[in-house]
Amino acid sequence: MHPPAARAFSSGEPLARERLLGAPVRWPRPSRLQAPLRLPGKRMAAGARTLGLDTVGDLLQHLPSDSRESRTLAELRAGEPATVEVVVRSISARPVRRRGMRPLVEARVADAGGSVRARFFNQPWLVERYPPGTRLLLHGKPDGRGGFGVSHHALAAGPAAGGAGAPAGESGGRIGAVVPAGEAAEGGTATVAHYPATEGLSSTQILTLVRGARASLGDFPELLPAAVRAGCELPDKPAALTAAHFAEDQDERERARRRLAFEELLATQLLFLRRRARRRSRSGAIALAEPPRLTERWLASGLPFALTGDQRHAIEEIAGDLGRTAPMQRLLMGEVGSGKTVVALHAMLRAVEHGAQAAMMAPTETLAEQHFATIQQLLGPEPVSVALLTGSTPGRRRSEILARLAGGELSLVVGTHALIEPDVRFAELAVAVVDEQHRFGVRQRTALSERPGRPPAHTLHMTATPIPRTLALARYGDLDTTLLRERPAGRPPVRTSLAFGEQERAAAYEELREQLRAGRQAYVVCPLIEEGEPVPGTTPPAAGEELRAARSELVRLSGGELADFGLVLLHGGMRPREKQEAMAAFASGAADVLIATTVIEVGIDVPNAAVMLIENAERFGISQLHQLRGRVGRGEHPSLCCLMGPSSARRSARLRALAEYSDGFRLAEIDLRLRSEGELVGTRQSGLGSYRFARLPEDERLLELARRHGERMTAEDPELSAPEHALLGAWLAAGGELEEPLAA
Ligand code: ADP
Ligand code: MG
Repeated sequence: MHPPAARAFSSGEPLARERLLGAPVRWPRPSRLQAPLRLPGKRMAAGARTLGLDTVGDLLQHLPSDSRESRTLAELRAGEPATVEVVVRSISARPVRRRGMRPLVEARVADAGGSVRARFFNQPWLVERYPPGTRLLLHGKPDGRGGFGVSHHALAAGPAAGGAGAPAGESGGRIGAVVPAGEAAEGGTATVAHYPATEGLSSTQILTLVRGARASLGDFPELLPAAVRAGCELPDKPAALTAAHFAEDQDERERARRRLAFEELLATQLLFLRRRARRRSRSGAIALAEPPRLTERWLASGLPFALTGDQRHAIEEIAGDLGRTAPMQRLLMGEVGSGKTVVALHAMLRAVEHGAQAAMMAPTETLAEQHFATIQQLLGPEPVSVALLTGSTPGRRRSEILARLAGGELSLVVGTHALIEPDVRFAELAVAVVDEQHRFGVRQRTALSERPGRPPAHTLHMTATPIPRTLALARYGDLDTTLLRERPAGRPPVRTSLAFGEQERAAAYEELREQLRAGRQAYVVCPLIEEGEPVPGTTPPAAGEELRAARSELVRLSGGELADFGLVLLHGGMRPREKQEAMAAFASGAADVLIATTVIEVGIDVPNAAVMLIENAERFGISQLHQLRGRVGRGEHPSLCCLMGPSSARRSARLRALAEYSDGFRLAEIDLRLRSEGELVGTRQSGLGSYRFARLPEDERLLELARRHGERMTAEDPELSAPEHALLGAWLAAGGELEEPLAA
């Protein structure tokens, strides 16, 4: 029997015995990857810094973001970006007549099937560089009238390895680069790889650099244990990197990328798991393990409602954490209105019944005030002392609170950043709650729970922004997490409908009037305050796009569809007094309809409001619309949210998702998927964690796989000191690459 033929990984080409025997024996020398990247010019060096390419290792891990096969000119469609391979027939610069006119080079370019006028902006030197007869790869957009606006360009006869003849110094932006000259350039389809590039360092230049550094690809050590590699059928790291840069075949490049992503995800999970294990083995927090007395009584008789199953489960989980001396670091996720406060209050009361203290910190004064009110109401008749401490607490009151906190007479305190000022001292802080945790920095969160010379406090982080499980694992894999998914009882979900075009709008207003006549109240939300006034931080309206403004809607509706009802206006441009008056009028029921901008997203709670109309819903994101509609459905009445927009919005996947789902976690997942669709550059830019190779959520399964392997490895070999784990262990010990931790 013959052994199966050896094949080269990236080409699949069979390897003859002589070639195998003749292959150079080499050992990786990772130190060579640390060598600084040497670049000829200042602009290139600056570009490399922007891209974070400092060393040879950085360069070789900078993968092409995309590649495309070229099209023929006959296949072009107006407005659709495409890559073409052409020959220059003639080329000339347009004289610049007026100041402010961009220099333009126009070339007649052709392939076997036709010709177009290619336009290059701001690069007058191209006339010399691309004389008639030059073969070019162009990427850009055909205008449908025989013109082609070029965004990237490169010589089609690919530069030989080593970079001789590589065009250098194109304009900024991404530029197409020709991947292996070899057979491809001879006539078949060429593959055009795009490296993420920047001002001063083009994709073509990056390709040239990568080719020059190719020999160092063998210097990457193999971090993955052989058993994992074999089990998951993964190529070794140098082979994967080689294929990611140079393989002709898209599938092969993708397989290579996944191999690299897996290693990255595994390393991150190992770091999270280690951090979590260390925290759990750390002691020193006050164990709140006495049997419940106060909390039992309070749960049994103090609450005005029955807890949901999720709330009970969360309370139990947290009580379990609190009973240990390892400081709790738990993330409680639940949408607005899911009832997080009562869960947090239970944890705080556990501290109180042990004679210790608890603090809750919120990012704004309004939120802190709301919590303070909710907590007082939830406490009912229980004799527990609680105070509010914010930036606007008067000096005398503040001193008094500080004295009572330091003396231990005050059990609970609710506040803002004011709680972490240096002179705030606790007699014995056992539980710290951080609401809307993502709005605080790590230092601020730690400042509350870790006080010099004091035992660390058990910490509960809360967030109302639902995060899909994948993301939670990728970003908060070191925390324990608890979800509140169930809506508190007696709150029917909000029915969401879509209305496009006049007929559907008319029906929506009819339904609105019916509800108002039945005694309910309503919100009408508009994207603008004033017509024609762009909202800072948002995309300005496109030509012909009509956006509704709150002020004009007030006038229009009070003379039209809602003439019989009381309308009141609320927007961010009003004075605080006016806003308060408007909110009071609506809250008291004096006004039937609140016409507002998105300012109502926060802090308005009117249970009688059962209808919301959102104008130009297509302008808002999924999570914002979901938050907005959370303003209705807060009482016992069945509620309705109507998303309105131009008929072009009828196909919007976002709006459809909102109409279909009311679960914020589900919507967050859809949102993530929709936003990452068609995205070229990994996950880095989308704020989902800093991964070099991994892309989320597409790599979700890979992430789950990495988590499982990580858990197994950590369980078998917590210090990663076994020979097959040693390299990974060393890499982690050297710091790896991670975002700042959520908790110390
Ligand atoms: P969030 O998760 O947004 O912080 P809150 O804790 O403020 O939500 O709760 C929102 C409202 O729901 C409060 O008025 C609270 O008293 C009430 N609530 C909480 N849990 C329940 C429940 N199980 N049944 C009914 N109402 C509840
Ligand atoms: Mg809350």
